[in-house]
Amino acid sequence: MNYQTTIGLEIHAELQTRTKMFCDSRNDSTETHPNVNICPICMGHPGTLPVINRDAVTKVIAVGLALDGTIAKEAHFERKNYFYPDLPKGYQISQYAEPLVSGGGLTIVRADGTIKRVRITRVHLEEDTGRSLHEPKTKTTLLDFNRAGIPLMELVTEPDIANAVEARKFAEKLQLILQYLSASDANMEKGQMRIEANVSLRPAGSPTLGTKVELKNINSFRFDEKAIEYEISRQRELLESGKPVRQETRGWDESKGVTVPQRTKEESQDYRYFPEPDLPPLEIDRARVEELRAGLPELPSEKLRRFREEFGIEPKLAETLIRERELASFFEKTVSELKEWLSSTGKKPHDPRPLQLAANYLTTDVAKLLTNSGTPIQESLVSPENFAELITYLAENRISSKTAKAVLEEMFSSGVDPSVFIEEHKLWQVSGRETLDAAVEGVIAANAKAAADYQRGKITALQFLVGQVMKEARGANPEVVRKLLEDKLRD
Ligand code: ADP
Ligand code: MG
Repeated sequence: MNYQTTIGLEIHAELQTRTKMFCDSRNDSTETHPNVNICPICMGHPGTLPVINRDAVTKVIAVGLALDGTIAKEAHFERKNYFYPDLPKGYQISQYAEPLVSGGGLTIVRADGTIKRVRITRVHLEEDTGRSLHEPKTKTTLLDFNRAGIPLMELVTEPDIANAVEARKFAEKLQLILQYLSASDANMEKGQMRIEANVSLRPAGSPTLGTKVELKNINSFRFDEKAIEYEISRQRELLESGKPVRQETRGWDESKGVTVPQRTKEESQDYRYFPEPDLPPLEIDRARVEELRAGLPELPSEKLRRFREEFGIEPKLAETLIRERELASFFEKTVSELKEWLSSTGKKPHDPRPLQLAANYLTTDVAKLLTNSGTPIQESLVSPENFAELITYLAENRISSKTAKAVLEEMFSSGVDPSVFIEEHKLWQVSGRETLDAAVEGVIAANAKAAADYQRGKITALQFLVGQVMKEARGANPEVVRKLLEDKLRD
């Protein structure tokens, strides 16, 4: 029997705010000392009162607008009641019946190039729990409440996703949007973004969805894909042998490469949601929403389109550039320098070649230097101005690509100005125009037959002549040589 997979995602992201969701304790997920960013409110002391964090609300609304969702006129907070040691109040303040955002969607590009829109059910605002640290050696559990009360957005999708690859694409695209909006750092390894995947199988063509299993504790896109793949085959085996799939929550065990049962799933009535009595309904000002809509930054997909269409960057490169907001912004600054240079030198202002060259170096050599030193690009010693300058030397063939790489390394470690370094180390390309001219003329004279062959249309003859010139003028740039030969043989 053929089975069809259905997946719906629930994605949590810690919001980037200065303070927590309902108090002024610091929201700092990088804090390593336990229990320092806490106060009586996030510790759930009796008699304390929550106050809504405006910035958190604003950020979820921005996310909603970026995803074409509908922003509530009035949002409500509710209590979700359950007991767990990392939940000091015994309930989590969340949203249930009236989330901040309803509807909307996000398009992804399928493997075959077609486009699919995944509908979004809702995006709501809630607070994070503390963290339990289990110490198997001493058989103790330690509790750190720094995270308790950090603003958390939860996004729920419709069951529109058909496989693990689509799920990963959706999550990656969402992550980038959250980062572009400065809504969340959304780093999965740091737990700032967490994915839960609901997976079910049904016989192909069946109108009703099968029983779903919720996958939790996934902390990377790779595990997410692996866990879903595993779960699909586990469910298929059950169904094929006539056994039912149990509705439950399962976790991913990376060392064994399997999903393992965690608990049978609660129903929403188990949480006994009720309106949070300490918070009034939240009226959302329409004018403010429109202001936010107008102020949305350029989103990744729009930037991608612009890099391709306006700058002529090839799709794969453009994709790599936009994947990091700061890299994209460094590139844009470089581009504006290069455009200025192009127009000042009387070159075609729309010449995409230097731009493509910059994109190439940024995504390979520069990226490697950044990764190896663990430096974010905005903190590196290389300025877009200096980088663009280096690219102009390359574009004019005044330095070789080998030199460019060496200069880049130096620029990274000392912040040196490229021209200063090249001058000091005499790295200008030995394409001294006169010597090269002489070599080209000498080679043409000595190889009259090959020259005539080329002029009669034998392209391989040119390759031979380039090789001869390269022998004469070591260190010359083959592109420059080819160009010179072509020019000379044309007259
Ligand atoms: P629950 O009440 O169990 O949390 P919801 O209806 O709220 O379930 O859905 C949670 C998530 O599971 C959503 O992303 C939804 O799209 C997805 N989902 C619902 N039913 C199925 C199903 N049969 N198979 C796969 N995903 C599903
Ligand atoms: Mg649910």
